[in-house]
Amino acid sequence: MDILDKPVEELTHTELRFWVKTKYNDDTGCVEWDTPARRGGYPSFYYKNDIEAAHRVAYELVHGEIPEGGAILHRCDNRICLHPRHIRHGTKSENTREMYERNDECGLSPCEVREIKRLRDEEGLTYEELGDRFGLHCRTIGRIIRGETYAWVDDIE
Ligand SMILES: [Zn+2]
Repeated sequence: MDILDKPVEELTHTELRFWVKTKYNDDTGCVEWDTPARRGGYPSFYYKNDIEAAHRVAYELVHGEIPEGGAILHRCDNRICLHPRHIRHGTKSENTREMYERNDECGLSPCEVREIKRLRDEEGLTYEELGDRFGLHCRTIGRIIRGETYAWVDDIE
């Protein structure tokens, strides 16, 4: 793959395992993950004994290790893109802002997320009760409460 500036025979096992899952999009010039990602989500890849967002892996494979707390941002605004020249290193607050602007995950506003956490903490509502009130699955509520989604809400004013 010529985007890598490296002949295929010099790629490591991990690099091959990763890039074989991607395909070049002639229309956009992006290199995209070849397996559909969860709706609105980033594709993920098993890397260094963990599940990692594929664009972060792409960055590490080509540009080297991401500094602690570093965020990898898309220049092309195509979240399934893994083109080494379409992703760049940015600060955590840039990333927070970007996520906020996209308002991804299940479309809740920061206020709603805070309200869910408040109702859980102060009024002890169950995941099911919260789910009914906000029209979400109780597992979705669980992820919000545990900070697996919407953790960025705590980073903004
Ligand atoms: Zn791209």
